[in-house]
Amino acid sequence: MAETPTPGPRSVLVTGANRGIGRAIAERFVAAGDRVATIYRSGDLPDGVLGVTGDMTDTASVDAAFTEVEAQHGPVEVLVANAGITRDQLLMRMTDEDFEQVLDVNLTGAFRCVRRASKGMIRLRRGRIVLISSVVGLYGGQGQVNYAASKAGLVGMARSITRELGGRGITANVVAPGFIDTAMTAALPQDRQDAYRAAIPAGRFARPEEVAGVVHFLASDDAAYVSGAVIPVDGGLGMGH
Ligand code: NDP
Repeated sequence: MAETPTPGPRSVLVTGANRGIGRAIAERFVAAGDRVATIYRSGDLPDGVLGVTGDMTDTASVDAAFTEVEAQHGPVEVLVANAGITRDQLLMRMTDEDFEQVLDVNLTGAFRCVRRASKGMIRLRRGRIVLISSVVGLYGGQGQVNYAASKAGLVGMARSITRELGGRGITANVVAPGFIDTAMTAALPQDRQDAYRAAIPAGRFARPEEVAGVVHFLASDDAAYVSGAVIPVDGGLGMGH
């Protein structure tokens, strides 16, 4: 059955919109006239974004934040699960805690959000779920066994959501950014930044806005028939992976 067309401004929730890629995504939806909210922990927010504090690692906190957002903006129609962390370490030195913390934020955190968002989307019979993964999820990365596992997990998650909810006007897709100029990449040693840049056909890192445009497209009516896809935004780095 075709989905109901989107009427007017939508209730959009982007996790971690206080900085980096999440901030640019939130700004993009605000500029398009949507009602935009974020679950965030700290920092300041772009103009026009409703901020509700919450922690991705805590189910009660995520559920309570959704309830507050929905009370003000209505059921979430577009969810962008963006919040994420790295705890890089070589495999032999990686602790259980390093592994579990990254999985808890990046993978279980996304699960907590999509589970809560799906309730309203099923009732509305429409919804857009975009999970922010990484080129590293399918390409792998030295010292990133935890991070890559969490980001690859999002692919299986989006595809399973697509199979469960695809008949209800809901799409679930993965965006896999390559190297984007944010605090996360600035933390990499300069020699690794240079090596990555040399391997990227585009010859540069991207701006967060270049990810935001793709996310915005996936949330649009034009992308109604795109689901379970992994869309790279990586300047060609991961081609064929
Ligand atoms: P940043 O480190 O700049 O921002 C991460 C965001 O996640 C912050 O808003 C942070 O909040 C939030 N966050 C982290 N942990 C939690 C938590 N427990 N609860 C709530 N929010 C949390 O990262 P980027 O903007 O670079 O990355 C955004 C997403 O894009 C991540 O999922 C990342 O893995 C992915 N990505 C980034 C790439 C890049 O090159 N930068 C490449 C590929 C993927 P706070 O400010 O409070 O810490």
